[in-house]
Amino acid sequence: MNIILLGPPGAGKGTQARMLVEKHGMVQLSTGDMLRAAKDSGSEMGKQVADIMARGDLVTDEIVIGLIAEQLDNGADESGAIYDGFPRTLGQADALGELLSSRGSKLDAVVEMRVDDEAVVRRISGRFTCGGCGEVYHDDTKRPAKPDACDNCGANDFKRRADDNAESVRTRLMAYYKETSPLIGYYHAKGLLKSVDGMGDISDVQAEITSALS
Ligand code: AMP
Repeated sequence: MNIILLGPPGAGKGTQARMLVEKHGMVQLSTGDMLRAAKDSGSEMGKQVADIMARGDLVTDEIVIGLIAEQLDNGADESGAIYDGFPRTLGQADALGELLSSRGSKLDAVVEMRVDDEAVVRRISGRFTCGGCGEVYHDDTKRPAKPDACDNCGANDFKRRADDNAESVRTRLMAYYKETSPLIGYYHAKGLLKSVDGMGDISDVQAEITSALS
């Protein structure tokens, strides 16, 4: 199965993608994670995108389409893929359709996660993740049982993203409404759109996604 998780920053796409990976053995293709890895590696492309990402603007279609094409060329989607944070523009959506069909593959569903903006800002400010396994925590709603160890893997390597601040969040929300939300109509017209309420507990949202996909 090939699934896109669509929703504004802070909708919980990464968290739900990780659960789908554990449950169904699919791969998570997150362009945000790939871009952060490029930045951390100090590559030319990483340097080129660092400021754009810190501001909360979108990097060019060419760069992210190239990252996804590379993953598909390496067979990353053989057991199915969950696209998290990609596509984010109509150009990226067209390119993904072409990349998949040129490989004899196709999208199975696009899950839109609906959340309200206030919740997005609250969720993002206060968010931190484990550098070891990617588990997501929050200062108010989900602290690790021991302050210096991840509940999941035990690592003491918590990270906060440079773009998880109020100003970048506003820019990211604006980018979502301007560039990404038209994809809701685009995939609806293709008969692929499923919509779930992203405001519940993580496990409730997971159950909604599972039933939307069955
Ligand atoms: P994310 O981790 O998905 O929230 O992405 C973090 C940042 O990476 C975004 O705010 C953008 O600057 C950049 N980014 C990630 N995915 C894309 C994409 N598909 N298109 C353009 N920019 C992206």
